[in-house]
Amino acid sequence: MKAAAAFVASLRAAGLSQEVARIQATLYGSLAWTGEGHGTAPAVILGLAGESPETVDPDDAARILADANEHHTLALGGHNPIAFAPATDLLFDRLSPTPAHPNTLEFLALNAAGDELARDRWCSVGGGFVVPEAQVGQPPPPGQPVPHPFNSAEQLLQIGARTGLSIAEIVFANECARLPPEDVERHIVRIRDTMMGCIDHGMHTGGLLPGKLRVKRRAAALREHLEADRFRNIRNPHEMMDHVSMFAIAVNEENAAGSRVVTAPTNGAAGVIPAVLRYYSDFCPGASPAGTRTFLLTATAIGALLKMNASISGAEVGCQGEVGSACSMAAAGLAAALGASNAQIENAAEIGMEHHLGMTCDPVGGLVQIPCIERNAFGAIKAINAASLAMRGDGSHYVSLDQVIATMRQTGADMHAKYKETSQGGLAVAFPEC
Ligand code: SF4
Repeated sequence: MKAAAAFVASLRAAGLSQEVARIQATLYGSLAWTGEGHGTAPAVILGLAGESPETVDPDDAARILADANEHHTLALGGHNPIAFAPATDLLFDRLSPTPAHPNTLEFLALNAAGDELARDRWCSVGGGFVVPEAQVGQPPPPGQPVPHPFNSAEQLLQIGARTGLSIAEIVFANECARLPPEDVERHIVRIRDTMMGCIDHGMHTGGLLPGKLRVKRRAAALREHLEADRFRNIRNPHEMMDHVSMFAIAVNEENAAGSRVVTAPTNGAAGVIPAVLRYYSDFCPGASPAGTRTFLLTATAIGALLKMNASISGAEVGCQGEVGSACSMAAAGLAAALGASNAQIENAAEIGMEHHLGMTCDPVGGLVQIPCIERNAFGAIKAINAASLAMRGDGSHYVSLDQVIATMRQTGADMHAKYKETSQGGLAVAFPEC
């Protein structure tokens, strides 16, 4: 959606919008293999219509998609009506190589005579980030200087040791170099509220998920079971785990249904961090809004390291980069909220990542449902375990977070393409009827 909207914005900036009579979008690589199940086609259509993921209204989205799919029209950028037939103007090219990145999109704009007006390639590099193809692998353009720049966990720990700041305080100071502090605070609250709202909605929504697998939603039934146990005064020792699983499953069912989730660090792995955060606020004595803030700021630092030094894209490194990264972030966030030292937080993040190394991405039918939904529940449970183990120690440990991130990157590079969001291997081929 973002890449399509950026292409439309570039047409507008070049003064070409009014000349455009036809747009063709082509998905390559992993996007072509799993784009159908991942909802990429509707996302591209909405982006061409000028919508953005943060603000798109579900009712408007339904109307825009109906116009394109049924009436073959599209208001380019929300204004300029053009003919657009998804069957011929939104193509899935599974054969052409994608040298820059496995998630590549190409946009072509033509005038009424069929002459090319503009052509652009964008890559979706994970976590909702898109970059022009030429920028893949390049360092991001320099932004506002921050007071505490870091490129590794080791540097982050050194800054903490030198300044006496916690990881959350370091991240907050850096964020405030880019935004006024009150905006940063507002953003944190908005993220928390969206995550919690998503859990609540998912826990109260039953029925089937969209798609050919006809997967039954489970979070609402889990909630009913847990509530019934409570009324009967039954308390299973593992009840907390059922709650955490329910929180994660609720979010990932919302994601599979196309509802709003917080990309954390990706949509497929969006359930881990909210589930662990909800565990913190519902189950941990002394939980507070300040702790929630510490949780999210700390998780941000770990997510940045994972993205900077490895990848959070299943198409690049498999699910270790998605659910593994989410687990690492959540483990660090929980440890921080519970009062861990910076060294213990780094240890928690390392444990969370280490025990996801090598995990492949093999979504059945290209849908983000099996194994993705349940996998988030396991990622959340592992994150709690990682935080707990780290807090039983003093922060000293054998494999550093930097080493495990480098290992994740190399393991992803060594991984066969069929295990990297192409639905060509693993569980995805264990069900021939899909
Ligand atoms: S298997 Fe993991 S990486 Fe692949 S789509 Fe599912 S959640 Fe994302």
